[in-house]
Amino acid sequence: MSQKRDYYEVLGLSKNASESEIKKAYRKLALKYHPDKNPDDADAEERFKEAAEAYEVLSNGDKKARYDQYGHAGMGQGFGGGGMNMDDIFSQFGDIFGGAFGGSFGGSRGGGSRTVKGSNLRVKMKMTLEDIANGVKKKIKVNKLVNADGVTFKTCTTCNGSGRITRMAQTFIGAMQTQSACNVCQGSGKIIDKRPSDADQNGLKRQEEVIEIEIPAGVEEGMQLNVRGKGNAGPFNGVPGDLMVVIEEVEHAELKRDGDNVHYEAFVSFMDAVLGESVEIPTLSGKVKIKIDPGTQSGKVLRLRGKGLPNVQGYGSGDLFAHINVWTPTKISKDEKSIIEKLKKSENFQPKAGDKDKGFFKQMRDMFS
Ligand SMILES: [Zn+2]
Repeated sequence: MSQKRDYYEVLGLSKNASESEIKKAYRKLALKYHPDKNPDDADAEERFKEAAEAYEVLSNGDKKARYDQYGHAGMGQGFGGGGMNMDDIFSQFGDIFGGAFGGSFGGSRGGGSRTVKGSNLRVKMKMTLEDIANGVKKKIKVNKLVNADGVTFKTCTTCNGSGRITRMAQTFIGAMQTQSACNVCQGSGKIIDKRPSDADQNGLKRQEEVIEIEIPAGVEEGMQLNVRGKGNAGPFNGVPGDLMVVIEEVEHAELKRDGDNVHYEAFVSFMDAVLGESVEIPTLSGKVKIKIDPGTQSGKVLRLRGKGLPNVQGYGSGDLFAHINVWTPTKISKDEKSIIEKLKKSENFQPKAGDKDKGFFKQMRDMFS
């Protein structure tokens, strides 16, 4: 899907790195590749962003769990997702460097005022197994904050447009002049001048919007996909937040999902199991016929390769397992009863557990070995 480097590799860590190791590794890289230390070095900037993105995911319990399970595919790449911008990174610094550090760097980046990011929107999306098998484009209606027409801005009088309030503070690398975002303009350096009646104090208004989103094949219950820039508009003409789409899997009437595989319980008549027959079973791409061999035992499992779900990371497709059950009638007529009683005496109808009649567990073992 993409050639992104593994987040653990970026931070030079193993998959079982602890929270404090992750923090330490990121702190080291952030200091090494910081733009202030590497002016006009595009490679350093790339590394800096890459490390920030890795930290952003691995320091967040939810995101880390998703990344550990699905890799980059779980993070919304190939989905309009992508790296972080510098403002995201500097606002993240507040958590790791105790506030002071982020501010000082932010302030030294010339100008200092920053674009304010809008809040994220979260929607749930119900998907059937058929949808999941193929991937879908869906249109959804969201009620979101958008920029109101006719709003004008002027320079913030509290911070004189710098977006920052400066003070001195002790930090882990010594005394530094630190800055924090101006709380009047939220760091944007701008405040509203003219505000039409339909705009709120941030220059925004609510509006319904139809957004088309593309869900890749193979997603699972609880997976979250981020569509960058489709969330609420940012205050003071800032950048929009993200739209987060949470997948809700609708249970299938006949097929049961197990990872990329699906299972189906097929019921065949006693006669079909004895004589052999071709029976129709459902798959995610319509009905198919499967052949029941003469003398098929109840519990036999037939494997239809590639008829499961595509792997969300693009590693092929799962299989469909048809579990054969021989149907035993619960009501029979007098005539039927007399025929069956005649058959009962035949030696052929006595159960035998031989090599040829493998039990269910042995079959499953053979199948997966
Ligand atoms: Zn201000």
